[in-house]
Amino acid sequence: MGDFNPVTNETASPQPHQGAPLVRLEKVSRTFDDGAVVALRDVDLAIQPGECVGVLGPSGSGKSSLIQIMGGCDVPTAGRVYWRGNAMTSLSSWSRVRGIEIGVVFQDYLLLPTLTAIENVEMALIGRGLSASLRRRRSAELLEQAGLEARMNHLPYALSGGERQRVAIARSIANRPVLLLADEPTGNLDSANARAVADLLFKIQSAEGAALVLVTHDGALAARCSRTVRIMDGAIVDDSGVDPGARPCASTDRLRQEAGARP
Ligand code: ADP
Ligand code: MG
Repeated sequence: MGDFNPVTNETASPQPHQGAPLVRLEKVSRTFDDGAVVALRDVDLAIQPGECVGVLGPSGSGKSSLIQIMGGCDVPTAGRVYWRGNAMTSLSSWSRVRGIEIGVVFQDYLLLPTLTAIENVEMALIGRGLSASLRRRRSAELLEQAGLEARMNHLPYALSGGERQRVAIARSIANRPVLLLADEPTGNLDSANARAVADLLFKIQSAEGAALVLVTHDGALAARCSRTVRIMDGAIVDDSGVDPGARPCASTDRLRQEAGARP
């Protein structure tokens, strides 16, 4: 674990262990209601840099619980989670990773309704040591990449579901994460918009070299991933094995390096 900084009240980014998976779950269980509900049971799963992993399972099987734990938004009731080889024992240990090295996309977009598309993306870049003009330029580039150049100044209510999700995807990759988690990102969309959103996620995954974990009900969508994991009643029942496209990924904070920011 990195050093604690009493000024920022934060723990420094954990130092990556060479060759470690991005995230590894070891015998992870998550229960609710004093153990009455078992969302995850004894899950062992590792995600390597650059992998493209589809997670399939019926409603209530634990997919969202898995994403929450892999993204550092929740901690298990039993077992351990490692980020680049470092044991992450509390929510605060994820504070320099979540939203920076890890981007998350949700089924219901979770855009801030009073901010325009570009302002929603810019929010992800606040506090990262970039000037306001650089934040704006990067956000505009991300929205262009998502095909939304004509929609940047619209509020979410004026955007279609597919457009909202593409804004959410642009926001999720603003800090150039090494891991992108998408929890049923096409679940609320018609087939044409679902296709556009999925195409954007796969384009980003291959262009940025980020690992993508894509939770879906849609077998055809999961089949576009190089690795498929099936979950049932909180347990992994099938895993097609590590994506042959997995690749080493050295840098921990790619946006800051790209922007020439000092650590
Ligand atoms: P999925 O995303 O596959 O639909 P979830 O991970 O959301 O599944 O949920 C797995 C199980 O855990 C379900 O039975 C669900 O009702 C339960 N669950 C999830 N979150 C909570 C919570 N905060 N409190 C109580 N039960 C929960
Ligand atoms: Mg879910």
